[in-house]
Amino acid sequence: LGTFEHPVCVGLDVAGTGCAFPKASGKPDDIFETDGQITKRPIRALTLSALAPRRGEHLWDIGGGTGSISIEWLMCDPTLTATTIEPREDRVERIRRNADALGQDRLRVVHGIAPEALVDLDQPDVVFIGGGLSAELLNWLHANLRAGTRLVANAVTLESEALLAAWHDKLGGDLLRIELAQAASLGPRRGWKSAYPVMQWSLTL
Ligand code: SAH
Repeated sequence: LGTFEHPVCVGLDVAGTGCAFPKASGKPDDIFETDGQITKRPIRALTLSALAPRRGEHLWDIGGGTGSISIEWLMCDPTLTATTIEPREDRVERIRRNADALGQDRLRVVHGIAPEALVDLDQPDVVFIGGGLSAELLNWLHANLRAGTRLVANAVTLESEALLAAWHDKLGGDLLRIELAQAASLGPRRGWKSAYPVMQWSLTL
């Protein structure tokens, strides 16, 4: 016990177990410093699977939060790059700390609001919307991204679900509904504690 396979994680004790760092997407939540705005491990694993990184690709991670999606994207392969967009200064700083702590220096963190902040960025191959989903953002992406760009959007609120349902009707792609529950204490016994369902839209433009 006590040694880590992954060189970027020397000194990190994953979940306090001393276990070797996992290779699969959906790394433990506690490798990230967070204020709670984080895509949790099982949803993150499914999201990375939908983003489906290929060698050399560049990601836009809109609504960086903790930075976990970008950081896991970069961990998939050393040829990958990412730009994350986040309006909150404290979160921008936290994303930088997480990227540094986990050895991911191919992440650019942009302090700004999408879609305005996207205008001057290098074109992406893949776009993830984890925050800031709006008709304005989808219209901008539809008008400005080149054909072949892959788009993945996660929605939790009824309003953003309605938006994705309308855009799925218009442009096609895949809609996935992710409903997960985890066993938790219920008085002296245990019960299934449901997470908010996530609606995930994946599309190749
Ligand atoms: N996927 C992230 C969590 C995202 S939380 C992770 O795993 O860490 C959603 C984030 O979107 C919040 O931090 C919020 O500040 C940000 N956000 C909200 N509106 C936005 C907009 N218009 N452009 C960019 N980011 C936005």
